[in-house]
Amino acid sequence: MKAIAIVGKKKTGKTTMGLALVKKLTGKGYKVGVLKHSHHGFDGTEGADTEEYKKISSCVAAYSPSESFVSWNRERTVQDLVPLMDVDVIVMEGGNKVGWLPRIIMVREDNDDKEFFPELALKQIPACTPDNPPSEELLDELVELVEEKGFILPGLNCKACGRDYCMDFVADIVAGKARVSGCQAMKTQMSVTCNGAELGFNPFVADMLSAGITAMLKQLKGYVPGDIEIKIKN
Ligand code: SF4
Repeated sequence: MKAIAIVGKKKTGKTTMGLALVKKLTGKGYKVGVLKHSHHGFDGTEGADTEEYKKISSCVAAYSPSESFVSWNRERTVQDLVPLMDVDVIVMEGGNKVGWLPRIIMVREDNDDKEFFPELALKQIPACTPDNPPSEELLDELVELVEEKGFILPGLNCKACGRDYCMDFVADIVAGKARVSGCQAMKTQMSVTCNGAELGFNPFVADMLSAGITAMLKQLKGYVPGDIEIKIKN
């Protein structure tokens, strides 16, 4: 990977230069990523500069003492994004077709839930607005629901749990007919964590990788059978 930094005092035209260079490189067919630092966060001018970079590059990563983010100019999968998030709870807004986690359906009228896979719903609640916000009681109830019943599966649709799709397994968990621990992809003999978040594995792929890595390690002096831990620092 090639990389270059553009540095200089304030008002020396770093952004103008950066935008022009990114355009030039993109024009030559390169896939260009932008890494932007700000001492003050990304409102105002810095935010506008970042938006300009987003328009002409493949990916913008920005960091400041108060916030950091990565923005790609194409769709990334939920599986790509979750390991980057480093959080205790994920609240996903939208994503109706992502059936690897249970959901709360907001309804305005009867039958409003039909296209939202009610079998995946832990609860249906009335629509709200900024003028008619959810009550504290309801929020307390939802927090409890998340703490007790929230989960996310790997989303591999590998069929190892006996269902064709993870969505079917989520429906069974919601109905009390299965448990999260029944997801075979989360308990293969190989586990890989990325930034602390466990990645799901198709059991077949996990077995192949695990056998391949073990066979290679067996050639090394000092190898003894047992649990193996490999850390790759990026
Ligand atoms: S084993 Fe897990 S990842 Fe595979 S289909 Fe079932 S729920 Fe999805």
